[in-house]
Amino acid sequence: MSANNAFHIAVLGGDGIGPEVMAPALEILRKIETKAGLSFRFTEAPAGAGHYRETGKSMPDSTIKLCEEADAILLGACGLPSVRYPDNTEIAPQIELRFHFDLYAGVRPARLIPGVPSPIVGADQRGIDLVVIRESTEGLFASMGKGVVTESEARETMVITRRTSQRLFDFSFRLAERRKARGRAGSLACVDKANVFKAFAFFREIFDETAKRYPGVKADRLYVDACSAFLVKRPWDFDVLVTENMFGDILSDLTAGLVGGLGMAPSADIGDRHAMFQPCHGTAPDIMGQGKANPTAMILSTAMMLDWLADKHGVESAAEAAERIELAVDKIYADGIKPTEFGGSNGTADIAKAVLAAL
Ligand code: ATP
Repeated sequence: MSANNAFHIAVLGGDGIGPEVMAPALEILRKIETKAGLSFRFTEAPAGAGHYRETGKSMPDSTIKLCEEADAILLGACGLPSVRYPDNTEIAPQIELRFHFDLYAGVRPARLIPGVPSPIVGADQRGIDLVVIRESTEGLFASMGKGVVTESEARETMVITRRTSQRLFDFSFRLAERRKARGRAGSLACVDKANVFKAFAFFREIFDETAKRYPGVKADRLYVDACSAFLVKRPWDFDVLVTENMFGDILSDLTAGLVGGLGMAPSADIGDRHAMFQPCHGTAPDIMGQGKANPTAMILSTAMMLDWLADKHGVESAAEAAERIELAVDKIYADGIKPTEFGGSNGTADIAKAVLAAL
């Protein structure tokens, strides 16, 4: 537990562009701490494909211990296509940490920042401001590393539990309530495939039971296939969506695409005690080492971290610092910054410098 607005942050830069986007994010936190009367202690630790290559482990036990002790975890991105386990899967300590710390609520906001081009016609007029909540500890990912492959077939099993679904839906309804209090629609859509799979009918049944306890939130139910089409045709009609792990993995990359790209989409993996904050994107090996990575998603993830710390520890100045970072990001895009990610000429350093100046 922190005292006097001091927070210990575990910093896992990871692989590829992970460390490249982490560096400016830490610089921004350093600048904001003085302004907001906060104090951060950053402890960097290894995790990812590089560490696996050297040691045969995705991360050392000391990294897990650090994450356990810290007030929050900041992660860049981990894994490289060229480094794989013997079963051909990639090194993914970020997924292991979700399981280890029971970070069941993957929060993936997609907000179209004015000035950022969206591929959706009309989005610049109508705006996009939605949140996908991806269950992050079970679903199809529950069989990670446990799939059975024989000469003639392969099987992976999906797991949905009442306990996790219940906590996930409570978290989602509370988020929809908080957004309603701030002027958003206050609606929550359960996204599943309940017309085909029993596991999803079970998921939806728990959603329906939970909805009765939140009469102030409009509860919707959608099948994932139809939902995908609606998200592309009229994303402005969505507020909060909650879904299973695999569906959330896919839909949250889709919603990141709606608001400019993976480099614009922050995320948080939240449990009852711990939380980890990282951009939606991966290590983007195609652009690593070229100064092209857009650090916006990482920077916005630090704002989500500050918001969570503010709420957990009752530190109002941390919430104000989060808002300050978001406003600074909004300002640089309104002023015309254009990342190479969507055809502009601004790389990591330009974007970082502009946010620092706008704080
Ligand atoms: P993962 O499976 O770990 O999510 P991935 O291989 O599916 O990773 P990413 O590493 O997220 O995908 O990258 C997909 C593409 O998006 C990259 O090839 C890169 O061109 C682009 N991209 C991702 N993040 C950024 C960023 N921050 N800035 C610029 N471009 C990015």
